[in-house]
Amino acid sequence: MTANSVLKSLIVATLVLCVGCAFAQVPTQTGKIEILWLGQSATRITTVTGKVIVIDPFLTQNPKTPPQYKNLDALGKVDLILVTHAHNDHLGDGVELAKRNKAQLWGPAGLDQSLQTLGALPPELAPRMNKGGTITPLGPDIKITMVQASHSSEFVWKNPDTGKDETYPGGEPGGFIIEFENGFKLYHMGDTALFSDMKFIAEYYKPDLIMIPIGGHFVMNPKDAAYATNQFLKPKFAIPIHYGTFPQLKGTPQEYQQALGSTATKVFPINPGDKLTF
Ligand SMILES: [Zn+2]
Repeated sequence: MTANSVLKSLIVATLVLCVGCAFAQVPTQTGKIEILWLGQSATRITTVTGKVIVIDPFLTQNPKTPPQYKNLDALGKVDLILVTHAHNDHLGDGVELAKRNKAQLWGPAGLDQSLQTLGALPPELAPRMNKGGTITPLGPDIKITMVQASHSSEFVWKNPDTGKDETYPGGEPGGFIIEFENGFKLYHMGDTALFSDMKFIAEYYKPDLIMIPIGGHFVMNPKDAAYATNQFLKPKFAIPIHYGTFPQLKGTPQEYQQALGSTATKVFPINPGDKLTF
């Protein structure tokens, strides 16, 4: 090989490499966990190694979701969808999001069974799990456990043949404990009343951050949520959610903080569209 041809080969190799790097899907590795809250319970989480998990994706019909996130593509690539229960302000755009991203939608077994039976999602995109189960669909370093919630989970589906709403069983409602690659643990509580096993959940799973419903009427009010935080859960961090979306959900983060009083928990009263990193 002459010096000239070596040089030519090097140039070609460099070009090929550069084309490769421009199109490679390199996940963002920040070393941190990013939480983007989108109103009600809707949350997009980017994990330490750049995996994207969306919980309770009620977006296009959510009055509190910022306009730029009404377009489902604005979420970027979604690797996994978690749904705490079947109510429309939680399942929301989950089916559409699962189809678009070919991403699994994990929820209470009864909800995923109904989605399968109705033909809303194929079985491979609607796998079944239940409370106490731990799944690792994103690899062994991210562990997702479904825990108890005190709520209901019926499921309203528009029959495409009649155009009429029909009600189906949506399994039992839950919350999710997610343990990330670095050991940090989030407890997304879903919709729930105050119940004393929150104390057990905290002792057993030791969550660092809770996302806790405070709106009242269908879930805990600020006083209940403050009791749960101070007496049962005692997390390092708390993000109040599920308030202000509908007229019945009257509780406010200010009332929650007032009811908490002096506490070791750092509360983030963020707005829909805000991001936090941990
Ligand atoms: Zn609900």
